[in-house]
Amino acid sequence: RSGRSAALRARMEERLLGARFRYLNQQLYTGSSRDAARLFRADPAAFHLYHRGFERQVRRWPERPVQRIVRYLRRRPASLVVADFGCGDCTLAASVRNQVHCFDLVPLSPRVTVCDMAKVPLAAESVDVAVFCLALMGTNLQEILGEANRVLKLGGTLMVAEVASRFEDTRAFLKAMTQLGFRTVSKDLSSSYFYLLEFAKTGPARPGPAPGLRLRPCLYKRR
Ligand code: SAH
Repeated sequence: RSGRSAALRARMEERLLGARFRYLNQQLYTGSSRDAARLFRADPAAFHLYHRGFERQVRRWPERPVQRIVRYLRRRPASLVVADFGCGDCTLAASVRNQVHCFDLVPLSPRVTVCDMAKVPLAAESVDVAVFCLALMGTNLQEILGEANRVLKLGGTLMVAEVASRFEDTRAFLKAMTQLGFRTVSKDLSSSYFYLLEFAKTGPARPGPAPGLRLRPCLYKRR
């Protein structure tokens, strides 16, 4: 009997966690990166809850996108300096020999520099590779990608891994990226879970609206 009520309580707790995760997730995808920073600064426990939920989601995927980026970096010189925007638990930094600057809102690891990804403490043109792995969450995409452009050297690489269903018009998105100073080098749209896009910085971002630069919020279904 007590075994059954413990199981019931565990199931209720799971449900509650799931509901809070989906609520937080929705807030992150429907507000700006500044709103996200404010949210987690005010409530660090929410951040840890978010991460537990995130882990549970990606564990169901056949492959973690960050592993693709690890493989990519291992094929390139270890001397390249990397910036990981929205690094989470720093899996990337822990898996490669490169110097990796890790940015997130709350430190899940001592490697993390806490900041809003729209304003990272790096000098202009100081990194070779900028990474956004499931991290393009804020609605101020143009500002966030503009920041990546600022810190990247000319010819530097921008790697984006994003949930496939977030793209409503991939061509329009890639076209908008050219306006932000990024040429498409390769795109892997073969996974039904996530797209992997590689860009090269062609120059500074051009100001003005980039209407194609839109991603749907990634809302998880209740399970
Ligand atoms: N790149 C990691 C984590 C992805 S989850 C991986 O692939 O495993 C998305 C991460 O982006 C979260 O850790 C979240 O806290 C972070 N993030 C969201 N908005 C952010 C912001 N405005 N500034 C910095 N990090 C942010």
